[in-house]
Amino acid sequence: MKKLHIKTYGCQMNVYDSGRIAEILTPLGFALTDRVEDADMVILNTCHIREKAAEKVYSELGRLRTHKTRKEKAGGRMILGVAGCVAQAQGQEVLKRAPFVDLVFGPQTYHRLGEMVARTIRGHGAVLNTDFPEDNKFDSLPLARTVNGSTAFLAVQEGCDKFCTYCVVPYTRGAEYSRRAADILAEARQLVSLGAKEITFLGQNVNAYHGESPSGKTWGLGRLIRETANLEGLERIRYTTSYPADMNDALISAHADVETLMPYLHLPVQAGSDTVLKAMNRPHTIDDYKRVVDKLRTARSDLTLSSDFIVGFPGETEVDFEATLNLIEDVTFIQAYSFKYSARPGIPAAILDNQISEGLKAERLARLQALLNAQTLAFNKTSVGQHQRVLFERSGKHPGQLIGRSPHMQSVVVEADAGLMNAIHEVAIIAAGPNSLTGTLDFEKETGKKRACA
Ligand code: SAM
Ligand code: SF4
Repeated sequence: MKKLHIKTYGCQMNVYDSGRIAEILTPLGFALTDRVEDADMVILNTCHIREKAAEKVYSELGRLRTHKTRKEKAGGRMILGVAGCVAQAQGQEVLKRAPFVDLVFGPQTYHRLGEMVARTIRGHGAVLNTDFPEDNKFDSLPLARTVNGSTAFLAVQEGCDKFCTYCVVPYTRGAEYSRRAADILAEARQLVSLGAKEITFLGQNVNAYHGESPSGKTWGLGRLIRETANLEGLERIRYTTSYPADMNDALISAHADVETLMPYLHLPVQAGSDTVLKAMNRPHTIDDYKRVVDKLRTARSDLTLSSDFIVGFPGETEVDFEATLNLIEDVTFIQAYSFKYSARPGIPAAILDNQISEGLKAERLARLQALLNAQTLAFNKTSVGQHQRVLFERSGKHPGQLIGRSPHMQSVVVEADAGLMNAIHEVAIIAAGPNSLTGTLDFEKETGKKRACA
């Protein structure tokens, strides 16, 4: 077998795509390696969302050039590929700045990777493929999936038609597309048969899902979740990322009825001021957002939220920014991703003349993150003394430790036998920090028996 190293940047959709890329290359004789220096092929699966993420790719390419040259000097070969959203947005630029790259391909063409690799091996020069082809990649991807551990991502929807004025995704991922429900259910069944206990449905706007049902009707995400929940052996369902304006009643009611749908939702609001939201071309107001949150919490009282925030969008005043802080105080988020607005080439917001200075963005980000971090810690502390069902996913830093996830996506560290990996166990939470909880296996809940006295 030849060795393949994939480095993934950015969102969970990229993680999913990297898995699918590996599944395409396995029948061609490539097996994954963690060691870049051993690799016969290296693929960088890139993110274009913020300038920093995109620039990282070019510095990584510089480092990879050294490995490639060393391999060639020793009479070997390393094929170097750039995939993902930087490839899509800057394909020619990648080849200009890094002419030693062999393959450049976007998120909608990686199903053609076999042909691209063959052309490179035959010595036809660098291959650039950033089309939005007519044929859909999902119809051409290998049916065989792989599962590492007990959790798996499953893309149900892709692309975006929303055109928020700060965002490159509609240009790099293309138009919204929902996969056929029967294909999704078949993939979910396979993932469960390979050991997945938890499936996360993915989409750039996953709750805009409207796929063809097996009977030819249209299913929304709520119905898809209800059908998937019937799969025997599947213990947890999650979905991300949701667009507030697409949060419909059918989906909200699934939170009330489907026990395996986890009580934690990522619902990006971006900003707490209606003026900024309008300038961002986000159709929801803050009242709309709060109404959706109220409905969700009525449907499932223990539901917790995470969100995305952008600070320093052009024209954001101190009053607008404080409105974001007020929203956070009102709604409460147990997790959040927050970013300084980054002016990306070609997006409408980049040409607005009221750009905010980097210094002010940094100052606002620090204030925002202090509040968000305090909310995360406060929530983690409320977990102490509780019993949680934890899905053990990986080994901890120290021997004899396992790390798992609570229903609310908190990391929980437990002293436990490696044989308990990839299963859900009852854990008593004994301590909480800003990033994780510590617990002990709850013998009584696990076994239904009292511990014998020594
Ligand atoms: N579709 C999701 C939604 O509507 O909220 C978001 C997906 S986007 C790929 C992930 C996050 O990146 C966004 O929620 C936003 O907070 C952030 N983001 C996108 N463009 C950005 C930019 N130009 N500057 C800073 N953050 C940005
Ligand atoms: Fe980007 Fe999400 Fe807006 Fe689409 S809805 S443009 S992915 S932030």
